[in-house]
Amino acid sequence: MAGERAAQRLVAIFRSTATPIRTETPARHTPEVKMNPSGDVVVDAVSVDLEDYFHVEAFASQISRSRWGTLPSRVLLNTRRTLEVLDRANCRATFFVLGWIAEREPRLIRELAEAGHEIACHSHLHRPLHTLNPSEFREDLIRSRDAIENAAGASVLGFRAPTFSITEKSLWALEILAEEGFHYDSSIFPIHHDLYGMPDAPRWPHRRPLPSGQMIWEIPPSTVRMGRMNIPFGGGGYLRLLPMSFTRWAIRRTHRRERQPIVVYFHPWELDPDQPRLTGSWRSRLRHYTGLDKTANRLEEILSCGKFEPMIDLVRRLDAGSRSVSDSMRDSRVPWFEGAIPAQLESSAGGATLKVGQSA
Ligand SMILES: [Zn+2]
Repeated sequence: MAGERAAQRLVAIFRSTATPIRTETPARHTPEVKMNPSGDVVVDAVSVDLEDYFHVEAFASQISRSRWGTLPSRVLLNTRRTLEVLDRANCRATFFVLGWIAEREPRLIRELAEAGHEIACHSHLHRPLHTLNPSEFREDLIRSRDAIENAAGASVLGFRAPTFSITEKSLWALEILAEEGFHYDSSIFPIHHDLYGMPDAPRWPHRRPLPSGQMIWEIPPSTVRMGRMNIPFGGGGYLRLLPMSFTRWAIRRTHRRERQPIVVYFHPWELDPDQPRLTGSWRSRLRHYTGLDKTANRLEEILSCGKFEPMIDLVRRLDAGSRSVSDSMRDSRVPWFEGAIPAQLESSAGGATLKVGQSA
């Protein structure tokens, strides 16, 4: 279909070429399916990586961490915009908070928690995991968790690594997360990308057995399978850069055919077309600044397409659910799951569906 071809072309541009992207007029909202053909409501998750515009990896080589405190912060303004989007969609979200922000804006974090949003962890200094050794990661994790929990007045159970930087080389981080009491992770992006990604990782929420015998839930951002590729949709730059027709198609396919939840992520700075412009490579500027004026409309349309909840609610449904995850694990062709599915996975929960009328 035309939407698929356009998406593939834009994904290629997004990754590696210098072809400029022409922005488009946001499409008007069209109500989408909210239940699958079996009559199940598909329960989705929405998350926000709570950081400022100068924290992003794309500009890390130009903005040293020692300069962060000298730059004009827009995180309060943009978190207000985020809350307006969520309020209009009448949904609660997970906020993966940078510990650095929790230390400086504790009242904001407490306000989010008191509004019913889940407060989770996005590390302390936004350092990609491949730049840290295990002890450095644990130290950063504990410092950020303490700052976030002190601000929120609530326990932190979820983690998302900066720049989705849990990859084949940093899977050791999952063990540390489990040891530190984290219940789930959302850092493994099952795609090819120049900065992150594990293209053979499972595309759906799943429970991962760790070498120590511990388990941890993994909640990947949404992708749609096209040919031999997983194409991301509904989050971050993909939300802004790919045609909305493709995103709509991907949502319908995920809900109707694959009967799986949509996992949305975005950043407050993506709602801020007027943020200060930073210098960087053409690719960084393309990824960061393109389509900022579209984010709010697109998010509102996506959030009207399903039943969106904080990620911990999705995980709790999975914990309490009845469907096996074995199908999605086999489908993912992950080397460490080839062959027999571990018994604990067969008996654990899978696709997060909720019968109409069933209590949450
Ligand atoms: Zn981040």
